[in-house]
Amino acid sequence: MATLGNPRNTIAVLQKYNFNFQKKFGQNFLIDTRILEEIIEAAQITKEDFVLEIGPGIGTMTQYLCEAAREVAAVEIDANLIPILKDTLSEYDNVEVIHQDILKVDINALAQSKNQGRPIKVVANLPYYITTPIIMGLFESHVPIDSITIMVQKEVADRMQEGPGSKDYGALSLAVQYYAKPEIVVNVPPSCFMPQPKVGSAVIRLTRHSEPPVQVEDEKLMFSVIRASFNQRRKTLANGLNNYPGISLSKELIQESILELGVPVNIRGEALSLEQFAQLSNIISRKL
Ligand code: SAM
Repeated sequence: MATLGNPRNTIAVLQKYNFNFQKKFGQNFLIDTRILEEIIEAAQITKEDFVLEIGPGIGTMTQYLCEAAREVAAVEIDANLIPILKDTLSEYDNVEVIHQDILKVDINALAQSKNQGRPIKVVANLPYYITTPIIMGLFESHVPIDSITIMVQKEVADRMQEGPGSKDYGALSLAVQYYAKPEIVVNVPPSCFMPQPKVGSAVIRLTRHSEPPVQVEDEKLMFSVIRASFNQRRKTLANGLNNYPGISLSKELIQESILELGVPVNIRGEALSLEQFAQLSNIISRKL
């Protein structure tokens, strides 16, 4: 039975092992059963599923995942948590704890060996300092993914959902929306964690598109165009593209491409939709 999602049992485990929180690993453990249940429900886990959990901590959410899923792999970087996880997960025979930095794990190989390459579900209360590299790594490495249900900083969750015109719209919004449909599940106040973080959090579910929502000839080029456009937010799109080392087009050809898109030549990148970035990168790709 899942037993850890409350302050009393969490403190008992921490004291038993004399555990010290490590700030550098972004350790804020969940202590609210309601939020844990909402995460499991939002992730729509069934007994058919293989779930990858990133950063299990003392195993609070892992216990819930073990009960809901067929099999779980939990990747934890902190050596001090490994003996604790052995203890808190001793009741379950469908979990493997992997002591590793998630950024160094070959997730494709893991999905292949644990789920025969079929789409996996990822669930995590993420260490906030590596939220973006983890999400981008999962998408860009083309790991077979069904959905990613994650707790992130509230601001980052908002950014993932934004469109043109918002100050929070940026490269992360476009990348997430190219690969998946983002939906905020629940906002989570600092009081649901131990220790309490300084910022608000939110659980967001990213459901992988079966087909990309836009037609792109060269995905890598589109992401270079996007990065170039948001690299210097105050500059025009033309200047951003002109100053970006990854794009070797003359100023004239850049201006010509922007006009071909049917927008003013002095437009800023933040005004373009995903569809327009896709079109622009297709136009540029033919001129390279
Ligand atoms: N899942 C637990 C919970 O909800 O209570 C803990 C969440 S805590 C916010 C983040 C966890 O990720 C910590 O256990 C931390 O040690 C682990 N972590 C941090 N960086 C990591 C990395 N690069 N790879 C794997 N785990 C990491």
